Amino acid sequence: MAATVLNGRALAREMREDLSLRVAAYVAQHHHTPTLGVIHVYGDRSAERYVRNLQVSCNRVGMNFKYYLLHHTATQRELENAIHTFSSDINVDGVLIQMPLPAKYDSAAAVFQLDHRKDIDGLHPINVGLLNQNKPSLVPNTPAGGMLILDRYGIELAGRDAVVIGRSAVVGGPMSTMLLNAEATVEICHRATRNLADKVRRADIVVTAAGKIGLVTGDMLKPGATVIDFGINVRPDNTMCGDVDYASAVEVAGAITPVPGGTGPVTTMVLLNNVLKAAMVTHVDSDNDMDQC
Ligand code: ADP
Repeated sequence: MAATVLNGRALAREMREDLSLRVAAYVAQHHHTPTLGVIHVYGDRSAERYVRNLQVSCNRVGMNFKYYLLHHTATQRELENAIHTFSSDINVDGVLIQMPLPAKYDSAAAVFQLDHRKDIDGLHPINVGLLNQNKPSLVPNTPAGGMLILDRYGIELAGRDAVVIGRSAVVGGPMSTMLLNAEATVEICHRATRNLADKVRRADIVVTAAGKIGLVTGDMLKPGATVIDFGINVRPDNTMCGDVDYASAVEVAGAITPVPGGTGPVTTMVLLNNVLKAAMVTHVDSDNDMDQC
């Protein structure tokens, strides 16, 4: 029997409607419009398109958008100056440093310069530490979106076996922590992992964040497994696909996110929700904490 399709687009639509209402209520109460600041070192076209789409999404929920564009010749110091500018700007609530930065920059050093209360990507060491301690924090958007999809479809996590393929700081790493915090038993796989198929076959929940077309196929899955595919890959014919071979996986899995239309749309809404969360903390009195959003 074909799997349940985990519809990220529908969830994102619900989240957008809810967030628009909460933004309007916040603006009416605090006379300040939550504002996202994006720092972007100009690189490829697809990143530029992503930033423009983000601006549209921001405006749709009633938030402001500020853009700091750096030329690719900018130095580390110029990048960090841009981060300081948004960090100290009372009108900017959440700051996104468009990742990945070109290789010549020290990304960790750049993120360290950011006010952690504005770190809506959850990459600052303070936010990473809070997530590891299972305390409220600003969390990386992509894995947080994956967790929301699992929750929305009532997928049980406690006591179940999960395999996460990929260990990056932005997706695979924090997703493993979030699953662990939800009491799943988590195995993290990466480039050096041997016998990936054997590990995947034992998992109730399979998460892919590797950026490899066809990495997981239907014959590798345990029947009924839940599959969350964070892969965003472009085929030679310019169409988009995930890391999972959807056609074979959908016949074996119990539930699966499609690409596109799965985890992607939810990521943007989590990011915007984090901007409102950050605004609550920086603009509302100090006894407010992050549990409120
Ligand atoms: P992202 O930011 O989307 O997570 P990265 O390129 O930073 O992507 O990380 C890719 C991750 O996927 C790395 O942790 C890497 O070890 C893992 N990975 C890449 N190829 C494979 C593979 N063939 N098998 C298992 N893991 C892989």
